[in-house]
Parts: sequence; C-alpha cells; structure tokens
Amino acid sequence: MTAQLIDGTATARAVREDVARGVAELVAAGGTAPGLATVLIGEDPASEVYVRNKRRACVAAGMVDLHRHLPGDVDQDTAAALIDSLAADPAVSGILLQLPTPASLDSEALLARIPAAKDVDGLTTTNAGLLAQGRPGLRPCTPAGVVELLDRHDVPLAGAEAVVVGRSVLVGKPMAQLLLARNATVTISHSRTRDLAEVCRRADVLVVAAGIPGLVGADAVKPGATVIDVGIHRGEHGLHGDVDFDAVAQVAGKITPVPGGVGPMTIAMLLTNTLTAATVQQGLGG
Ligand code: NAP
Repeated sequence: MTAQLIDGTATARAVREDVARGVAELVAAGGTAPGLATVLIGEDPASEVYVRNKRRACVAAGMVDLHRHLPGDVDQDTAAALIDSLAADPAVSGILLQLPTPASLDSEALLARIPAAKDVDGLTTTNAGLLAQGRPGLRPCTPAGVVELLDRHDVPLAGAEAVVVGRSVLVGKPMAQLLLARNATVTISHSRTRDLAEVCRRADVLVVAAGIPGLVGADAVKPGATVIDVGIHRGEHGLHGDVDFDAVAQVAGKITPVPGGVGPMTIAMLLTNTLTAATVQQGLGG
C-alpha cells in the first residue's frame, strides 16, 4: 500500500474531545449543557444499536441524554405530538428522529415538524435549502464528517477537482454542496453516468457513496488522489466499502478504510451539530 491512511476513528475521537471542551466552555460561560433527544420508534435491532451509540457519545461529551422511545405500533398523531413537545422544550437542543421509522408512519411528515434550529441531523428541507443557498445552518452529519476528515488531513479543496459518486439526499447531494461551498469544482455522478471510471479519474478528491460494494477500482483513480469511501456493507469477512481498498490504496495519495473511516465521523458530527444548536439557541455565539 502506498496511500496514506485517513484514520476516521482517531479523527472522530479528536472531534468528540473538541466538543466536550466546547460543552464545558458553554457551561462555564453561564449556559446550560446541550440536550440531545434521540427518538426511536419501534424495535429494529440495528436502529437500537445506532441510537445507543449516539446516546453514549452524547453523555461522554457532557451533554444531556433526553432519549424517547415509542412503540412500533404508535399512530402518526402521537409521534407528531412527541416531536412537537420536544420542539417546544427549551432543555432540548437537538432532535434526532432515527430512520427508518415503521412503514405505517410518514417519516417525512415527522421530520418536517423538527424546527430547523434543532435539526441536528441536518435533514429538514429548511436546512437542505440553507445549504443549497450557501447560508449558515445545520449540515447532514455524514457529508459534514467527510469535510472534517479532509480538513484535518490537510486535503486542499479550493480549486480542486472533486467527484462525488451518488446523489442521495442523505449523502451525495449535500456532499457536493459542501465541497462547492469550499470552492472545489464539483462533478456529481450517479447510476446513469456514462463511463464512471473516466469521470472519477478527473478527481483530486473522490467521494464514493453509491451503496455498491467495490464499485470503484484502481482504474477509476488518478494517481495521488484522495479517496473517501462512504459505503458500508456487511460481508462474510466483515465490513467493506464501495471502494476496492487493496487495489485503490496502491494508486491513491490518501484513502479512508472501511471500517474506521467515515463511519465514526457521523456520530462525532452529530455532537458538533448539537453543541452548535445549543450555543445558538442560548444566544452565546455560534
Ligand atoms: P442511496 O440512497 O442508495 O444512494 C446511492 C446513490 O448511488 C444514488 O444516487 C445512485 O444513483 C448512485 N449509484 C448507484 N449505483 C451507481 C453506479 N453503478 N454508479 C454510480 N452511481 C451509482 O445510498 P446512500 O444513503 O447515499 O448511501 C450510500 C452508501 O453509504 C451506502 O453503502 C450506505 O450504507 C452508506 N452510508 C454510510 C454512512 C456512514 O456513516 N458511513 C452514512 C450514510 C450512508 P441514482 O440516483 O441514479 O439511483
């Protein structure tokens, strides 16, 4: 392997430590510790694990865990009333509705009830619109985590050719907009892109979020490029990404592993967003 490894686990730890310091400073300045309300509906085992990890990280950073759990057969009005009560509660700095919700519920309608100022997942249409217009707002955690990884590994973005593989609302689109906001020249590719490898080879910074194991091989990477793999797939031999790591690491300049790359950054950025939300709500900067 010739590429430098971008260690997401260590970077996420550093971000979480920065957040913990920020929480202590907020409290020392007369503010109150941020409160994170994770909302879990139903008993999906994977969602339970994700929510548990978020709650632990929140407490470890000195924040208040305001978790709420509703049964899987809850009706839309009851779920909406819970979101409304969290929205009105000054102790709640951030609300995170764990997705997917049970199929009987309209998750988009629930998300729409989260005030933009408390939308620490950055998924409401208001925050998406603010990002699209280049205005301040809470950013989606996974793409924000990618930018943090790039910054903390000295990857220049201004003027760089950036290619994003994938155009989902959760990752690809906000990723492209965040790179654009940092003055990269951004290309978005997707399932209808002709000759994906040729498009990817333009990239100084290649971010892959397609959800297809091993989609990007060495033939799609310019020598020396930075390659960020957002994909997560559970296979027979553990977790894999969308990038053929062993082959691409021979060509790239810097690369994220899976696991231990982008994954740990997502929770770290949730904490960052929660601290930002609390600081703004308490009128202490941000
Ligand atoms: P998604 O909603 O399924 O979107 C996938 C995107 O990839 C779509 O825009 C699709 O294009 C595009 N695509 C599919 N096949 C392609 C191909 N052959 N060539 C080029 N583009 C292709 O997935 P997502 O939510 O963005 O997630 C992507 C991956 O990231 C998944 O593996 C997911 O598990 C992972 N993920 C990881 C984290 C983390 O914390 N690390 C967070 C979120 C997601 P079309 O629009 O044309 O269909």
